[in-house]
Amino acid sequence: MTADQRVPGRPLLNRRLAEFGTTIFAEMSALAVRTGAINLGQGFPDTDGPEEVREAAVRALRDGRGNQYPPGPGIPELRSAIAEHQRRWYGQLGLAPDPDTEVLVTAGATEAIAATLLALVEPGDEVIALEPYYDSYAASIAMAGGTRVPVTLRPDTGSSSQAGGAEGEGTFRLDLDELRDAVTDRTRLILLNIPHNPTGTVLSREELAAVAELCVERDLLAVTDEVYEHLVFEGEHIPIASFPGMKERTVTISSAGKTFSFTGWKVGWVTATPELVGAVRSAKQYLTYVSAGPFQYAVAEALALPDSYYTKLREDLRAQRDLLARGLSEAGFGVFRAPGTYFVTTDIRPLGETSGIDFCLALPERCGVVAVPTQVFYDHQAAGAPFVRFAFCKQQNVLADAVSRLKGAAG
Ligand code: PMP
Ligand code: GLN
Repeated sequence: MTADQRVPGRPLLNRRLAEFGTTIFAEMSALAVRTGAINLGQGFPDTDGPEEVREAAVRALRDGRGNQYPPGPGIPELRSAIAEHQRRWYGQLGLAPDPDTEVLVTAGATEAIAATLLALVEPGDEVIALEPYYDSYAASIAMAGGTRVPVTLRPDTGSSSQAGGAEGEGTFRLDLDELRDAVTDRTRLILLNIPHNPTGTVLSREELAAVAELCVERDLLAVTDEVYEHLVFEGEHIPIASFPGMKERTVTISSAGKTFSFTGWKVGWVTATPELVGAVRSAKQYLTYVSAGPFQYAVAEALALPDSYYTKLREDLRAQRDLLARGLSEAGFGVFRAPGTYFVTTDIRPLGETSGIDFCLALPERCGVVAVPTQVFYDHQAAGAPFVRFAFCKQQNVLADAVSRLKGAAG
């Protein structure tokens, strides 16, 4: 067949992206709007972040700060605030990036992930991702021409709580032997997400140390998405960049969306060595070049909020998590413990269901609640079939309403 003959029948979307349809978040939010259901699917708070931060954005807009292209790497005020944030929370672990050479502002964590993979991955390189994985990882690996190698997180007790416990029982764990076995001569990097969306799992210090040792031993890069760094309810957040030998091989990614409850602003960042930041900047400058000018000023102020802000965010979300987890458990779901993030993962098998996708598609009609089937975040589809994710970044009365609807449907 000649090229000309191929054109009429050729799909418009290229092969790299052919497997990716509409994201599950857009799909489920559209379903929620269509049915008027309570949206516990897409993870966004139903209450905006601090008023003074919103006002800082308005002030910047009015004062004409950031209305024209900001500097490519981000405005100096924000780069300093990000560097200071790292020093304030992780300085005792040895992290204190230079604001001029070791920080890059991006259009949300999403662009940071895409730019990092586009910068670091050669076609044919293997990228290990912990499955279930956040959906943009698979698409970004594909856009970079990499090969995705999933390592499956599995429930540690083999079953989840079916009775009462607000926090559930089992949690999803990484099998370190499986991770080691997944590394080949073609592996370029390990893509981590700590705390982990969608499972809510937080890798322990020992697990992180083992992953770090593996990276050093096999000369791998680590890309770590830490957008939920301030949402750890049990234990602490430990950046993997702080482990021996990791600083020079880790790209750390975070964003303002979750920490300050302004997910629409899309201000994210990368911290890494000057060499790694330089590589990511090479890709980033041709994706968006810059974004969110006035919001960068506001986020610089937000990052400097006192410790009490961060504590309250976490404690409020802990109460919301407990309310939802207990309610789901009482409604008959198996509930996994979520030591971090703002998601609870459930097992629907105790309800006599087996397909999370079918369950989530029917749920709005059944009881007016939207959730996300985590199967869509798996390559090993069967491993994820019975799991459903609920977001708890919603007001307590909304969560209580959702719980009573779910109990009604189960009863
Ligand atoms: N990574 C993870 C794990 C997420 O859950 C999200 C959604 N907030 C993102 C990245 C995207 O972050 P942003 O909105 O800053 O692009
Ligand atoms: N991070 C959000 C979630 O996991 C969704 C972000 C998006 O819609 N892309 O629900």
